[in-house]
Amino acid sequence: MTKRYLTKSRFKLGLECPTKLYYTKKKEYLDQKMDDPFLAALAEGGYQVGELAKCYHPGGHDITTLDYEEAERQTNKLLKEDKVTIYEPAIRFNNLFIRIDVLLKNKNIFELIEVKAKSFDDTEEEAFFNKNGTIQAGWKAYLYDIAFQKYVLQSAHPKIKISCFLMMADKNAVCGVDGLNQKFKIFRDESNRKGIKVSTLLSAADLKEKILVKVPVDDVIDSIIEDGTFEKMINDYATAYEQDKKIVTDIGAHCGDCEFQCSKKEEANGYKSGFKECWKAALKWEDKDFDEPNVLEIWSCRKKDNFITDDKVKITDLDISDIDPKNDKKPGMSASERQWLQVEKVQNIDNKPFFDKDGLALEMKKWKFPLHFIDFETTCVAIPFNKGRRPYEMVAFQFSRHTVDKDENVEHAGQYLNAELGKFPNYDFLQGLKRQLENDEGTIFRYSPHENTVLNHIYRQLKEDKSNIVDRDDLCKFIKSITTSTDSSAEKWNGKRAMVDLWHLVKRFFYDPYTHGSNSIKYVLPAVLNSSEYLQKKYSKAIYGAEGGIKSLNLKNWQWLEMSAGEVVDPYKKLPKLFQDVSDKNFNILIQDDELRNGGAALTAYGRMQFTEMSEIERKELSSALLRYCELDTLAMVMIYEAWREWIK
Ligand code: SF4
Repeated sequence: MTKRYLTKSRFKLGLECPTKLYYTKKKEYLDQKMDDPFLAALAEGGYQVGELAKCYHPGGHDITTLDYEEAERQTNKLLKEDKVTIYEPAIRFNNLFIRIDVLLKNKNIFELIEVKAKSFDDTEEEAFFNKNGTIQAGWKAYLYDIAFQKYVLQSAHPKIKISCFLMMADKNAVCGVDGLNQKFKIFRDESNRKGIKVSTLLSAADLKEKILVKVPVDDVIDSIIEDGTFEKMINDYATAYEQDKKIVTDIGAHCGDCEFQCSKKEEANGYKSGFKECWKAALKWEDKDFDEPNVLEIWSCRKKDNFITDDKVKITDLDISDIDPKNDKKPGMSASERQWLQVEKVQNIDNKPFFDKDGLALEMKKWKFPLHFIDFETTCVAIPFNKGRRPYEMVAFQFSRHTVDKDENVEHAGQYLNAELGKFPNYDFLQGLKRQLENDEGTIFRYSPHENTVLNHIYRQLKEDKSNIVDRDDLCKFIKSITTSTDSSAEKWNGKRAMVDLWHLVKRFFYDPYTHGSNSIKYVLPAVLNSSEYLQKKYSKAIYGAEGGIKSLNLKNWQWLEMSAGEVVDPYKKLPKLFQDVSDKNFNILIQDDELRNGGAALTAYGRMQFTEMSEIERKELSSALLRYCELDTLAMVMIYEAWREWIK
């Protein structure tokens, strides 16, 4: 049997929760995290950064084998040289095993470089620390990862001197050439892992102006290693993992994100739930206790850890003083009032949706027809598309627009998708949006602050862009008319026709127990479909994209509503698959957005179109699939509006 080493990824898992080390990679415990490295690389983005970092350290030896012993043997052979650069060297010390992204050796001086697909602003002072001197939560996992690597390398080679660096995209760098990102393509290799192919056309000029920054992190790494608990933590994790022993940790709010969960159906098929094991042991629960809603479900609640510590784990254990709902004197419900509503509905076994008819009717009175429902798909690309652009600038590549007129006619009225390779599409995108929205004064709806943020971002890009943009002023004026300025903007405005956030209205005026506290459109849509007779009647016919029915730009004679076992089939699951070679599990992870981070499937598909080799036919198919998904995103908004409108009538 292969020795059970504590690796970088296992150490990271242990940092999240040491108990997870026991469940990981065991067939019987289902792991709900994505298990397709190629897809994960596309979904996370920035996968080209590692390859670019190697190009900035040329002449290195790449250790590509996945075999632990062989990789270690090749590394040790290379380390006999006085001066050498190695990519992915394998270092082992006792039951610890690491692969370092880039290692530079010059006699007994080593540079350990960890490459991260993250942007860094080097003008920021004390970038990694909070004001009280502790490490910022967003950096902790990265820095502890490097500290772990330094510990292993130093232990394996006690006489060397190690300097540690984090290499990341430089937020302030400007790309000096066009087409750089198209020179790094991603592919699925034979063992289903991701591979990066660097174009033979990559030149010295492409690498001249560096867009990655190498940040020295020795001080913070040494402070982690020397804090007195670090070495013990590593040894505890490594020993437990090696001996396959469970480290029992306290349960808490963090268990809500635990990947070792499975459905009843999966349990019936013989799988185990790590989550249930932990909770059963901590609370002396039986299977039936998991059928009752628990405090992890409460929407946007920061008191979950306190409730669990106080042994108030089921929602039925809470009383009003626990939530302490307070009116915030704004229209609709405050966050705490909404939390209490959720609790009350559970306690009263009331599954009916709550709808603040009068409050929403007042809001609706302000709206002007035709109503426009828009949704954007965006991505952030580590390596810019064009000369003059910065790493991780927001790229807006798709939008969809539905309209509803005063006579209640619904239409999929417009869309945009950039399918051109290597293009910076933001201005085209904006021009298209402007053309579609400037013809009337109708109210525009978005779902989440995302669309407002994107347009603010494009506004700044237009202002900073030195190139000749003929309609720059018109475009900026248009953005200001339909947005409000974001907090980070020096210039302040509040557009006359600023978009209305439907997500905000959901939170203030509507709650359906069917959503289990989530306000993501992916949960709210099936909920309203289940509770609105109007929607059920209208969309159970194949009227969508049909002659005389609802105009659609991508679908024909489509029936959105279908029932199965007394419940509505999720309309997103009815659409043809976005990717043919992706398992249902991984695809569901991509589309199960949380409330603020959406579009995971779309940006993954876009990355696939831009950064993988594919035939024209495949590209067209993927474009069509993307158009259908975005169309449903705006239709979902229309459906929520229609359900509300009918309830108010
Ligand atoms: S259920 Fe909680 S304690 Fe158990 S492994 Fe998951 S996160 Fe850790």
